[in-house]
Amino acid sequence: MTHEIAVIPGDGIGQEVTPAAIEVLEALDIDFEFVEADAGDAVKEATGEALPEETYELAASADATLFGAAGETAADVILPLRDAVGSFVNIRPAKAYPGIDAVRPETDLVFLRENTEGVYSGHEDRLTDDVSTLTRVVTESASRELAEFACDYVDTDDHDGFTIVHKANVMRETDGLFRDTVAEVADEHGVETDEVLMDAFATHVCLDPEQFDVVVCPNLAGDVLSDLAAGLVGGLGLLPSANVGTERALFEPVHGTAPDIAGEGVANPAAAIISAAMMVEYLGYEEEAAAINDAVEATLEEGPRTADLGGDASTDDVTDAIVDRL
Ligand code: ATP
Ligand code: MG
Repeated sequence: MTHEIAVIPGDGIGQEVTPAAIEVLEALDIDFEFVEADAGDAVKEATGEALPEETYELAASADATLFGAAGETAADVILPLRDAVGSFVNIRPAKAYPGIDAVRPETDLVFLRENTEGVYSGHEDRLTDDVSTLTRVVTESASRELAEFACDYVDTDDHDGFTIVHKANVMRETDGLFRDTVAEVADEHGVETDEVLMDAFATHVCLDPEQFDVVVCPNLAGDVLSDLAAGLVGGLGLLPSANVGTERALFEPVHGTAPDIAGEGVANPAAAIISAAMMVEYLGYEEEAAAINDAVEATLEEGPRTADLGGDASTDDVTDAIVDRL
């Protein structure tokens, strides 16, 4: 079976780490058909559009999408692309790797972040010179869809349950609905949950990340708290993410375009390659995904390493080392 993969490198180091991920995928015995498309600052400059119609259509029809990064135009690119794949959950693992200098090396968490609503649903207004407002939308249906996914996730991946992070003591209607719905769905599935207020979570995860495993949270909280966890594991160049919908999904490193090192061939390809491993797993190839993760882990531990991890290897050196180990 051939899997059509939309490949959207975008701007900056997206142009360097995305081809690295493709090189790793090509080393597997899986039949991929890669179709490349443009998005981001460069194509906007050339055509006036950050996300050409054909790129959107490609992401909306391919089996999965690999995305790199977009610069100034990030919001105009990634929000519609998440919509193109119908994504309702953003999966963000934050795990420290052996041999990598991390603030909290014992960290091993997965965030399941609501990906369609909350404060990012776009209802912002400027009422007068003095007053601006934002309407926060939380629906039972989106909370339920996320919770169903979370229950499947903990079952399939063999976790004990999940932690619901929210602020329902203050945002009683919106986060109240979120918390109640997620807890109810978990109950229906016999999945254990506990809850932590999002501000308290920020402290607890810094002091003792081991008490958390799978974390289910609303959109903004997931955005901020997963970046916080990224800080604990030491390095943007290592963190993958997946935007998953009912029929397709988009995979991207958590980092952006890294303009300070773009074009030099020294970006760490690990996050893009681990994102590709998430895609491989999503497509049903568990063993191949594990093989990629093992090869990345061994390379992180034994080298070669890029400059962000204290080494002097190039993107290509690291990619070749990972492919060799595969
Ligand atoms: P953007 O607006 O596109 O997010 P940024 O300036 O915020 O750009 P990021 O890509 O978010 O840059 O990266 C933040 C910092 O982390 C930069 O100093 C960058 O060099 C470094 N960094 C990010 N990703 C990588 C990577 N894959 N390899 C090495 N360094 C990285
Ligand atoms: Mg950034």
